[in-house]
Amino acid sequence: AKRVVIKVGTSTLVYPDGAINLRAIDQLAFVVSAMRHHHREVVLVSSGAIGVGLNYMGLKQRPKAIPEQQAIAAIGQAELLSIYKERFAIYEQKIGQLLLTRDIFVYPKSHQNVLNTFEALLAQDVVPIVNENDTVAVDELDHETKFGDNDQLSAIVATNIDADLLIMLSDIDGFYDGNPHADAKAKLLPHIATVDAQTYALAGGSGSRFGTGGMVTKLKAAERMLKANGQMILANGADPAIIFQILAGEPVGTLFG
Ligand code: ADP
Repeated sequence: AKRVVIKVGTSTLVYPDGAINLRAIDQLAFVVSAMRHHHREVVLVSSGAIGVGLNYMGLKQRPKAIPEQQAIAAIGQAELLSIYKERFAIYEQKIGQLLLTRDIFVYPKSHQNVLNTFEALLAQDVVPIVNENDTVAVDELDHETKFGDNDQLSAIVATNIDADLLIMLSDIDGFYDGNPHADAKAKLLPHIATVDAQTYALAGGSGSRFGTGGMVTKLKAAERMLKANGQMILANGADPAIIFQILAGEPVGTLFG
């Protein structure tokens, strides 16, 4: 794969007790910088703003009110990017930040502007780090609707910039025939060629405290990649160096495509 989008979930970046997983962020910076060295174009879609914001503010729980959650996201996003900047700098890799909303892709002009920005960043060897703009988009934070999550965002970005591979890192080894946290007998499915109603029937919601999507949103992302003739690999982000194995073609996680 030449152009790769990597999506990291909150569960990879923030420990269950709320502490920031600096080791994972450092590994990610190392892997992505190494990929750039091998002439791969990499876009990082990173969740974690709220988790990092809670940590930064010394809070244990998400505030209930939406404006307060947006404030935490704004605080956390700044902190998260400063951590990324520091870690990527160790590997002499420059980064840029793109905060997007779904509607941007609906309007031809803003859509084109975003694509131009991606191309200009990649052409200059800068790694774009993308997140949903929580100041504008509230839905991701709304537990009722669960719309506009970063799983979708990463697939929308990947298909729009013609990435051939979306690597989705989560807190689970791949896609199972049932939620492994609820069913100890659930088995990992190494290859899914098509995503249909039967596949969705195997997917459950999120198991983690900070995670928002669960498997349904990951399947939707996979479906989007497959429709665009791309591939998606769902793998465990506990050790982001797993990306080296993925790029070497080793069978890890679940390959969609
Ligand atoms: P992230 O924060 O990485 O986006 P989520 O917590 O949103 O992660 O989603 C991953 C979780 O989805 C897993 O930890 C697991 O509890 C749950 N899950 C539900 N159904 C499945 C399934 N069929 N296979 C794997 N995980 C599943």
